[in-house]
Amino acid sequence: METTSTYDAVVIGGGAAGLNGALMLARSRRSVAVVDAGTPRNAPAEAVHGLLGHDGVPPAELYRRGREEVSGYGGVVVDGEVAAAGPADPAPDGDLRFTVALTDGRSLTARRLLVATGARDVLPDVPGLADHWGSSVVHCPYCHGWEVRDEPIGVLAVGPASVHQALLFRQLTDDLVYFTRDTELDEETRTRFAARGVRVADGAVVEVITGDGGGIAGVRLADGELVVRRVLAVGTSLWPRLDGLAALGLPTEDLPGGMGRRVVSGMAGTTDVPGVWVAGNVTDPMAQVGASAAAGALAGAHINAHLAAADTDAAVARQAGTPVG
Ligand SMILES: Cc1cc2nc3c(=O)[nH]c(=O)nc-3n(C[C@H](O)[C@H](O)[C@H](O)COP(=O)(O)OP(=O)(O)OC[C@H]3O[C@@H](n4cnc5c(N)ncnc54)[C@H](O)[C@@H]3O)c2cc1C
Repeated sequence: METTSTYDAVVIGGGAAGLNGALMLARSRRSVAVVDAGTPRNAPAEAVHGLLGHDGVPPAELYRRGREEVSGYGGVVVDGEVAAAGPADPAPDGDLRFTVALTDGRSLTARRLLVATGARDVLPDVPGLADHWGSSVVHCPYCHGWEVRDEPIGVLAVGPASVHQALLFRQLTDDLVYFTRDTELDEETRTRFAARGVRVADGAVVEVITGDGGGIAGVRLADGELVVRRVLAVGTSLWPRLDGLAALGLPTEDLPGGMGRRVVSGMAGTTDVPGVWVAGNVTDPMAQVGASAAAGALAGAHINAHLAAADTDAAVARQAGTPVG
């Protein structure tokens, strides 16, 4: 299918950020299409937690409801993956245009773009770890901390931020082991851990061992010792999902402490690229579902305001018989 009409906005990515952006645009009577590959970051999780009014809802159910709400106001949700998005020739009145090509050959034209493609988690390279991601391997005390309270938890250090993570998980269990994985752990931190009953396992972690029931049985250290654990907390590095979007030229920057990268953005998700906004984890890796949705809503409202100004400029130019610059 080749779509010939031009949407006021195309939203790339239909997670919390993209769907909430589209909702604001659709409710403002903007023609909007959301292109979504259906792979939100929290897909491995059983439920979304910490989201007021929706605590415990399965991710798929939240996004199903969001799609329904967008469609209810005339927004179009397209299942598909964007292969290429970039600027197109401007409209005769000078207004911006973008083309969005999907991997299946379909293509859309847009006046404005909202990029809400999220971020990809990269786990440290420990054999067996990735098998449990999103269930017994967790990263966020607010997302799944309550669910693993009182369990024997291990924190796999990836850098200085892991000390902070350990103190947050100590709030949830008395049985916590900090695996240094040969990272530096100063005496002051060791003293602070000891004061809270956090045990420290020095040396490399060579493998995460799966038990008979399919969950984690423990962590194998380089000296062969098996430290029994049921849950592991680990920091991931986060990388913005920009496959196919290179032609947009969105600027990115490193996150501190080797924690990944993000798309640089300003107020309401504006970017240095005229006509392109970003929202959610693609620009704010710390944003949970609520914050991502809020950022998407703000960007959607800002896009609508931008379009209202452009529509008015065009109307004034038409009346005066002059092209808009
Ligand atoms: C295991 C896990 C559990 C979590 N649990 C919670 C929790 O309990 N509570 C909470 O608040 N937060 C939780 N989070 C964080 C939450 O996942 C993020 O805050 C949220 O997903 C960010 O929303 P987003 O819209 O920015 O991105 P995403 O939800 O990742 O959505 C991005 C969407 O863009 C699509 N996309 C990407 N590239 C393209 C492309 N080229 N073309 C088309 N579509 C594309 C993807 O398929 C995806 O559907 C969890 C995270 C993880 C990893």
